Amino acid sequence: MTTHQTACILCSRNCGLAIEVEDGHLRKIRGDEAHPGSRGYICNKAARLDYYQNHADRLRHPLKRQPDGCFVQVSWEEALTDIAARLLAIRKAHGGDAFAFVGGGGQGNHLGGAYSRQLLAAMHSRYAYNALGQEKTGDFWLNGRMFGRQTCHTTEDVEHADYVLFIGCNPYQSHGIPNARDVLRDLKNDPQRTMVVIDPRRSETAQQADIHLQLKPGTDAYLMAALLAIIVREGLHDRVFLSKHCAGFEEVEKELLAIPVAEYAQRADVPLADVERVARGFAAARRACVRIDLGIQHTLHTLLNGYLEKLLYLVTGNFGRQGGNNLHAYLLPLLGHTDERKKRKGKALKRTAHHGMHPIAGIYPPNILPDEILHPGEDRVRAVFVDSANPLLTYADTDAYERAFQSLELLVVVDVAMTETAHLAHYVLPAASQFEKWEATGFNLEFPTNFFHLRHPLFEPLGESLPEPEIYTRLLEKMEVIPTRFPLLALVAWLEPNVSAHLAYLGALAATLASHKAWIPYAASILYRTLGRNLPDSAAAAAPLLPLAVQYATQHYAAVSRAGHEGNRLTLGSALFHAILAGRSSIVLSQHEFADTWSLVGHPDRRIHLAIPEMLDELRALPTESPPSADYPFVLMAGERRSYNANQIFRDPAWRKVDKHGALRIHPEDAAALGLANGDPANCRSARGELRVVVEIDDTVRRGMVTLPHGYGSRYQGSEPIGPAVNRLTSREHCDPFSKTPYHKYVPVRVSRLPLPASASA
Ligand code: SF4
Repeated sequence: MTTHQTACILCSRNCGLAIEVEDGHLRKIRGDEAHPGSRGYICNKAARLDYYQNHADRLRHPLKRQPDGCFVQVSWEEALTDIAARLLAIRKAHGGDAFAFVGGGGQGNHLGGAYSRQLLAAMHSRYAYNALGQEKTGDFWLNGRMFGRQTCHTTEDVEHADYVLFIGCNPYQSHGIPNARDVLRDLKNDPQRTMVVIDPRRSETAQQADIHLQLKPGTDAYLMAALLAIIVREGLHDRVFLSKHCAGFEEVEKELLAIPVAEYAQRADVPLADVERVARGFAAARRACVRIDLGIQHTLHTLLNGYLEKLLYLVTGNFGRQGGNNLHAYLLPLLGHTDERKKRKGKALKRTAHHGMHPIAGIYPPNILPDEILHPGEDRVRAVFVDSANPLLTYADTDAYERAFQSLELLVVVDVAMTETAHLAHYVLPAASQFEKWEATGFNLEFPTNFFHLRHPLFEPLGESLPEPEIYTRLLEKMEVIPTRFPLLALVAWLEPNVSAHLAYLGALAATLASHKAWIPYAASILYRTLGRNLPDSAAAAAPLLPLAVQYATQHYAAVSRAGHEGNRLTLGSALFHAILAGRSSIVLSQHEFADTWSLVGHPDRRIHLAIPEMLDELRALPTESPPSADYPFVLMAGERRSYNANQIFRDPAWRKVDKHGALRIHPEDAAALGLANGDPANCRSARGELRVVVEIDDTVRRGMVTLPHGYGSRYQGSEPIGPAVNRLTSREHCDPFSKTPYHKYVPVRVSRLPLPASASA
């Protein structure tokens, strides 16, 4: 058995792992003590990663769907030649707007994303849809307005905070913060520190909290507005911070002073005294931060919720300091900046044909894609490439996605496994698993210490599967948007790899791209085919990291030097690239100082702009909120994170030790009123669809709400769906009107008994 250092790919933490590998299997999985970020930490999920690497739905060969719906094995040559010809024909006949790219990088495979996104340029399309567009783009839009760029993403230093507000998140199960369970335990055990959870469910995190505000679903905006109003009314805000670092506080203050605090606490169904206690405690704390997640981003008032949570740490001055919230630097450019009010190169942002939707951070929301395909106009989307994603199960409105994808002229799926989406594809292209190729995550979002982990392959690719860099580069070559050879670059790339050779290579690359501007969008594949061929250990896929490392070192020279990388302003980037290539565990990219946060603010005045007119309008309009309807009296929180669900990459249900059915959790009194007992089958119906579920009586949920997990509903080896496919219940119209983020945590449903199976009745 050989022990390898790699990382977990099940959530955005990407904890370091030390794995014993034998006979193609991941045998013993431990936390990697040498990983400078996770320091040996893992949760229960990582221990069963072999169910991802080895299962019966893995793809081994390219497949082509036949008219009768069956798939036949084809060669890569045949598949890519035909796909390239069909893409070019669609582009020629209908223009680039007829093409959309979906997915591209899950929780840990972002290196492939650098290659797959090139296809958009080849198709002259801007339509990139991915999971960030159904979860986080509202947040990115707010960041653009408040911090100046949609790339200004915030972190929270929970580990060093004296007072933490967890709002709409359950880090015990969903993680999202470093070493979550250890950090929660430390918070809980320290009497000098306070943990507050705001969540309709008494979650595993809430059970450890000092204070739990168990608000009514969908009322987060009322509660946060009340907290802010108390802080401002009692003069607990940080005037020095606000005048030094922020603009527009006076307008915000005026609105906050008008908040009817007692009424809003009542609407949220939380005792006023508790709201006051939290407002005063948070404002008075020496170091405090706010951690939020989908609980407030996937519910009513998506944008306003994000605005108010940011105001909480900003008006109290808990920003740009240890134990507070901060901005961070990026190595991989995960996000763009697409301000819908501004023009780019004299042109307004590309809006979609049916919804007229603009991108946020360069991303379009999956909620609108079925309509963009199904609408009858000539300008509809006709061809879709899906990469490392399973929209049929993971995006809102499964029925609409089925109809839309079935109507496409070309659907290509690149994946590790035969997914529900792949079953509808014209071509299915097998990708190597995340343990069979060089890979990396772009979720290196930490501050002040930031990390990066280039993971090496542990196994050969299964069957004929290929890493994404090879798949997309071959496809671009077939489409003839790049040549197959770059003689000058190939020559320079063969120089002994050292700092001078890297500089010579980058100079040659710049000269090549300057004389062939049409190749600029395909720089990743050009690096892969040239520099990549000379990288050690066949690490060709990592070649695009050279210019990114140079850019990072140039922008954050002092922080990269502080992290121990040596070089002058010309050579530091190359040294960083060498360190990334040589490391088997994660490396420290940069060591910032807290004052650096201000250099990351995107507004030219380096101030945070607090007054967002659209948000102040929505704050004034809050009293018009209406309750759930009598037809659908329960609020379903769809997509709950539990101990045995992850993203969709686990298909074999045997990986779950508990919760095999993905049960519907319901309060004991609601269950009694419906005549339901533990384990009973029940029907859960929304205005969009219905599901048969299994009941779990659970007093951690509030009365009037029910929960279902995400990550279920797959058909393993052609079986019936295993567990609830929650997006049969969600509708693409039930979403935030601006960002189109779905209200997954506020789905009105009704629950009713189903007859017990005959064997159970007997
Ligand atoms: S699931 Fe997340 S927290 Fe758990 S081991 Fe994997 S990366 Fe770490």
